[in-house]
Amino acid sequence: MTDIADLATLAPDSPEAGPFRLLVDGALVDGAASMAVVNPATGRPFCTVPRADAAQLETAIAAARRAQPAWARTSYAERGALIGALADAVEARIDDFARLITLEQGKLLGHARGEVRTTVALLRHAAGQELKPEILREGDGTRIIEKRTPRGVVAAIAPWNFPLFIMAQKVGPALITGNAVICKPAPTTPTSALLLGEVAAEILPAGVLQTIVDQNDLGAILSSHKGIDFVSFTGSSPTGKKVLGSSVDTMKRVSLELGGNDAALLLDDADVATVAPRLFAGFTNNSGQICLATKRVYAPSGMVDELCDALAGLAAQAVTGDGLQQGTTMGPISNKAQYEKVLDLIEDARAQGTLVAGGEALPGEGYFIPPTIFRDLPEDSRLVQEEQFGPVLPVQGYDDLDEAIERINASDYGLGGVVWTSDVDRGIDVAGRIVSGTVWVNRQFDLPFDVPFGGARHSGLGRQHGAEGLKEFTQATIINASI
Ligand code: NAD
Repeated sequence: MTDIADLATLAPDSPEAGPFRLLVDGALVDGAASMAVVNPATGRPFCTVPRADAAQLETAIAAARRAQPAWARTSYAERGALIGALADAVEARIDDFARLITLEQGKLLGHARGEVRTTVALLRHAAGQELKPEILREGDGTRIIEKRTPRGVVAAIAPWNFPLFIMAQKVGPALITGNAVICKPAPTTPTSALLLGEVAAEILPAGVLQTIVDQNDLGAILSSHKGIDFVSFTGSSPTGKKVLGSSVDTMKRVSLELGGNDAALLLDDADVATVAPRLFAGFTNNSGQICLATKRVYAPSGMVDELCDALAGLAAQAVTGDGLQQGTTMGPISNKAQYEKVLDLIEDARAQGTLVAGGEALPGEGYFIPPTIFRDLPEDSRLVQEEQFGPVLPVQGYDDLDEAIERINASDYGLGGVVWTSDVDRGIDVAGRIVSGTVWVNRQFDLPFDVPFGGARHSGLGRQHGAEGLKEFTQATIINASI
């Protein structure tokens, strides 16, 4: 078996280059085929991984259906102990997980370690959760109880921007509530999920957690399969709509965490010098590939010059490069398709607005786009209206706050957003007028595990985190007794 520390230097067709196996029915197995995984910092494959076919997926679904009833009969405490052990095992391999995340996804190694640490914390949090039966009515000869029972077999379908953490957001709550789970990572970032399967194989009963890697061909089978009871999906809105469509025949329940076009709104009392670095982090963190990243800015017209100068100064200091290299402050775009999409949006914006910073891909084979800022784009331009999912920001001026809020709300999306102000009460008031699942005031990316989050409109259905998020993985059984 290859050491993960060597992966970046191995030839992808080397027989040694694939330490990874699928986890199916308790066994670590080869795929029906294999495929290369590309390092976005080099544009070249760094390893091969197993790729499952439809028959292996059927085997996994059958194994999950066999395993789930016994798993559901265990107590919360028993399941919590095993999820806690999984968290410990992930933590013990933090270096391997972090390195894989940087190699497959591109983010800075320090941020990859942060993703692993947050994953461990989330699993530990999930391990301590319990949905107790609730007595809804008692007396006069009646006892009515609401019991939360597991959905059954959960398909956990994840995107590529936080490949381990988003998978854990599904795995933790699914397992603690008594479901079996089939993990299907994005095709460009499967290695961290495969390592999670390898770690879980030592801890969880056969069939309770399995890993299936595809090339965008098995997700549709999962979301239409009668052996899957619940799809917990995170990804783009167009794919989310497909999941919703293909779940209809089986009346499958789904939770959809989808895209966003989050606005940052600066009020006229905001201090530009304070806000600019935080705004800069809000659109460049993870190279802008965060569902809740700032994707457009609205600032009072009189502040736009000062804000753009400050953002351009920060862009000039940024070091875009390989996430494994010390000194890099922003990594590459995670895959070629996304890189080309972001470049296309830049070209479209160049023709319509004023370029403030960046605007050109860096030379070489890696997918590098430095922080790029435009100002004064037409409101109907693609960069203002679409989800760019990259380090490119349009700065738009406004003269009237009501009109700015109207422009923010004139979107199909409604995932997040930030109000920046020196007056927090005013900020909270304005935040309440933005149509969105979460609106932060003077902060961003704060997602406590006990607070539900999710999207409005085309940004999603259902919630994650908090009791509401946990309940998504269960259904209510009402027990109505005559006593
Ligand atoms: P994507 O929709 O292309 O893919 C997501 C997953 O769906 C992948 O695993 C993919 O293989 C799978 N898939 C593809 N076709 C499918 C089908 N027909 N049925 C079922 N599954 C299918 O998304 P992406 O490009 O990997 O991720 C980026 C998107 O994810 C962005 O829009 C981003 O905003 C969104 N996102 C949302 C959240 C959130 O919490 N709301 C978090 C992270 C990312």
